[in-house]
Order: sequence, then structure tokens, then C-alpha cells
Amino acid sequence: MEKSREIFDQLGNPRKKEDVERAEERARLQMVENAPKDPELQEFLANIDFGLLKSIFQKIAEKSGIDPKTLNFLERERISPLVPDWTSAGCYFPDKNIIGISASRIAKIAEDLGAPENLLLLSTLCHEETHATSKVMCSGSDNINDFPIKIKTLTGYHSSTREQESSGAPSKRNSLFQLFNEGVTEKLAREVLKLYIASFGEGTGVVKKFEKMQKEIPEELPYTVAIKFIETFSKRLAYETHVSEDSAWRALVRGMYEGEDMLNWELWKELDMLITPGFVERLADGDLHKLFPKLAIPLKNPINGSVQWRISRLIKKFGKFIMGVSLYPHKLHPEHDHYRKPDHKK
Ligand SMILES: [Zn+2]
Repeated sequence: MEKSREIFDQLGNPRKKEDVERAEERARLQMVENAPKDPELQEFLANIDFGLLKSIFQKIAEKSGIDPKTLNFLERERISPLVPDWTSAGCYFPDKNIIGISASRIAKIAEDLGAPENLLLLSTLCHEETHATSKVMCSGSDNINDFPIKIKTLTGYHSSTREQESSGAPSKRNSLFQLFNEGVTEKLAREVLKLYIASFGEGTGVVKKFEKMQKEIPEELPYTVAIKFIETFSKRLAYETHVSEDSAWRALVRGMYEGEDMLNWELWKELDMLITPGFVERLADGDLHKLFPKLAIPLKNPINGSVQWRISRLIKKFGKFIMGVSLYPHKLHPEHDHYRKPDHKK
């Protein structure tokens, strides 16, 4: 059974299971067990029903056609407090397989927004668990003194690389599709959050309160633009492929869980042709604002033969994409220069 998290060495060979487990245990000891405790985070985690949370993730994965047994869901013992100067509320470390949560930072955000702190903690946990359960692939050395360093990481749609020639040399970093991935992640995390709360008796009131907050202060909440983008994109995909909006959204979820290669040239070409030239590049760079107007459902003009042919071809392609059946099967392998954009542009 294939696991949703895979680790490779510098040369692209899968690391031995025992070595991966040993490294994970080292990270757990260092970042959780032997790290200074955060009583606020501990209290919050003690009250979380991890069994229930896991079953919600499994059901959601199943709905998108993913085998729930492959999910890398993290239990309480892999959740670490973040150091006080950490700049975000939460973080998933794909190489260490640890979720970090900063309760103090969340307390500050809750105060600024006038939002219930526990709800924001829960929403952060759901978000980071969504990253952890996504397709994760890491390759490179785990010894930071091994130069040249070339580390590649894939989390859902987001791919990032870090390269450094020698000690003291500038390190080059590249990050693609991050905002797109965050949009899918946060939208799914909100779905999980609602299901989790709703499974407790008094849940509905809390959910309504949270939704009201999401509507009233959208700009302050993280990834609001990215979520709106994903919803508009799902609508457009649904329109083009004649499936329901929910099916299009589930296809995007499935892509995140399978690590859909957005740089697959065929998919890239089709998306550019369907929406606008340069679409995928801008998506990779997180230029979502500029892409919004391009996602509008096109006005129906009387169409001529060649346009009709193009549309039917696209529907065929996206139909396959939506069904999760790739016309061009691919697997990310660290040896493939997966993260480099093709030189040829239309
Ligand atoms: Zn995130």
C-alpha cells in the first residue's frame, strides 16, 4: 500500500522505512517530548478527539476517491509548540512530519479579531492536518553539512526547492503553487472544522458564529482570496466539463491528495488555452488577483466550427482530469526535474 508521504535520498532512491521512522522519532523527541511545554496548547490538545478528527479526514478522502488508509494523519504526540518568535499561527514540517502550533500567536489573533480562541486553535489544527494528509514528497540529504544541498519538497500542489552549492554560498529557493495549494487546503480544512464541531450536540451555533465571522471579516482571515479563487476556479471547471461544482471541487481535493503535477505540460497547455495564456505561470507565482477576471464564465457567442471543436476537446480533457484519470500518467520522482518550467512558452 502506497503511503501519502514518501521520502527519498539525494539520488532519488526511496529511503528505508526504518531510517524514515528513526528520523521521525528523532524529530518528535526534539520538537515535542524534550521541547519546552506550552500549557495552553497542551490543554487544547487534551480536549481534542483525535479519533473523530481522523475519521472525518478519512471520509473526506474517500469522497474524493482516495484510499483513506494511505493518509498521514498526525496524532497528538506529533504536535509541537512553536517558538514564540515564529511568524505564523501554525506550520507543517514535511521533512520532520511534525505539526507546529503557536498558541500565543493564535491568542493574539483571536484578540484582534474578537474571535473565540479555541475555535481558531481548532481551525489551525484542521489546516495543518490537511497539509499533513496531502501528498508529501521530500528528497535530499538530511545532513545539513552535505554540500551541495538540493532539497525538494512537495506538499499537495505546492512544490519548493532549496539549493546551496557550498557552506556560506547563497541558498536559492523556489516555491510554486503555494497560494493555490493554501486555497484548497483552507477550504477543505473549513469543511473538516464544520463536520467536527457539528458532531457535538451544541455545534451548530458555534459553526454559525464562525461562518458569520468569516463573512464579516474576510480580509483579516488567512487565505480568503485563495479560497475565493478556488471556488471561482471550481465553477469554471464545472462549467467547462459539464459536471457539478462539487465534483469539480472534489477533483481539486483529489489532486492535492495525489500531488497532481500542475507543471505537466499537457495540463498546463490546456489550462492556458482554456482560461488565458500565462494562466499556469501566474498560478504558480500566486498572482491570483490578476487571474480572477479571467475565470468568469465566457459569454456564449455563436460559435463557429473550429471553436466548437476546441471546446469539445477541452471538455474531453477536463472530463478525464475531473474523473482523476490522467491522460498522461506521471509520478513525481526526485530525479525528474519536476520543478523546472519548460522553456517553451506559447
Ligand atoms: Zn497552510
